[in-house]
Amino acid sequence: MAKFTVPVRQGETLTATVQDLTYEGMGVIKVQDYPLFVDNALPGEEVTALVTRTNKTYGFARVSQRLTTSPDRVAGEFTDYLQTGIAPLAHLRYPAQLAFKQAQVQHLFAAQHLDIEVLPTLASPQQTKYRNKAQIPVQTIHGELTTGFYRKRSHHLVPLTDFFIQDPRIDEIIVTVRDILRQLDVSAYDERTRRGVLRHIMVRRGHTTGEVMIVLVVTQTVPALKLAAQMIADAVPDLTTLLWNVNSRNTNVILSGDNRVVAGPGYITDTIGDRRFHISPQSFFQINAAQTPHLYAIAQELAAFSGNETVIDAYAGIGTIGLTIAPQVKQVYGMEVVPEAVADARANAELNGITNAEYTVGTAEAVLPKWQSDGVQADVLIVDPPRKGVAESFITTVGAMRIPRVIYVSCNPATLARDLVRFQAQGYAVTSPTHVVDMFPQTPHIESVTRLDLR
Ligand code: SAH
Repeated sequence: MAKFTVPVRQGETLTATVQDLTYEGMGVIKVQDYPLFVDNALPGEEVTALVTRTNKTYGFARVSQRLTTSPDRVAGEFTDYLQTGIAPLAHLRYPAQLAFKQAQVQHLFAAQHLDIEVLPTLASPQQTKYRNKAQIPVQTIHGELTTGFYRKRSHHLVPLTDFFIQDPRIDEIIVTVRDILRQLDVSAYDERTRRGVLRHIMVRRGHTTGEVMIVLVVTQTVPALKLAAQMIADAVPDLTTLLWNVNSRNTNVILSGDNRVVAGPGYITDTIGDRRFHISPQSFFQINAAQTPHLYAIAQELAAFSGNETVIDAYAGIGTIGLTIAPQVKQVYGMEVVPEAVADARANAELNGITNAEYTVGTAEAVLPKWQSDGVQADVLIVDPPRKGVAESFITTVGAMRIPRVIYVSCNPATLARDLVRFQAQGYAVTSPTHVVDMFPQTPHIESVTRLDLR
């Protein structure tokens, strides 16, 4: 085998032009063919960079001086946000973010030899302050309970109070809660020593209702929390519900299954279009509420329901998609792996007076074969899986059931491209352009919708 030598050394400084942006929004410099990934560097910019790390096939560098500036760069100091990792594209002008996302999908499709038109990205109505949910880590810094964000690829907490892409009322509530817990000397959990009480502060706020849910994730319910509950209720007049989530395990998973409702009903209500939805702490809910109706409208338009369809809403969450379309179809069957979300979905059907939607707890890949053997005949399948995409066995079952129409809502174009190839192997063809919908401005995350039909 030919011996490959890394053409740069750690600690070396070099001057180069940034050639590309990775899917994570990092600039790419190439030395011969060896790529160096650089934060806060845009294509076309000439930079002097310090090589900070080298691996066999790629390395990392840090800009020490920017010699030219891209016309797509946002003027101003967004470095805090960039380094914390909450808004890796904040330095890129919004139209360029939209073009970047369309190009990413095109690139991933081309790599899989998929010949699919990718439409220009649909802009988000709000480009900052759009997130309706926060899960804020805490640490003791200089003896004080501190809230902030983990720096990219680390558990190093960067103190921050303006989260830029979050609902500003949520930002205020986090500071209020932090100050109360400081006053009561509630300690931050330390991952190394496994001592301390508070792990995360989670806040959700209804975009249209303004209802507020606060969840304190704690290792144990210490006595000070009783007073904290009273003080939080007094200081947050818009509080709808307050919970403790007791998580004593040594894990990166934020919430345990152990919720203790301290005040209010244990959920908040928000609306999408003219539907109302109960949202429990464990349940998934789209985080960009102003853009969600547009995403669902595209899925609905692509599905082109005639009124007689039986629809499977796999990855149903709290039923938002299925309950939105229910009046336009004969029957909706949903499945979802999180039991609390299924409980929400059932409650939400009732809340909206919908009687033709049923929900089952379980993974899509386990439930679908059961429905197949029960003889369920579906006309349309909607999938909206997490980033890892759908299981290969699930696609095989879809093919065996000969479900004629599939609407694929994706939050990760890499797994989408992989799954579209697998659907093709089952006799499906993509019959729509891919609609890219920006649900996550200032971040590299990409949401899209694609239709397939059985040939
Ligand atoms: N369609 C919903 C939820 C989409 S998020 C909405 O628009 O709000 C994806 C959902 O899939 C989450 O609720 C998650 O809990 C669920 N999920 C994850 N893996 C799953 C699996 N293997 N089978 C079924 N549901 C799954």
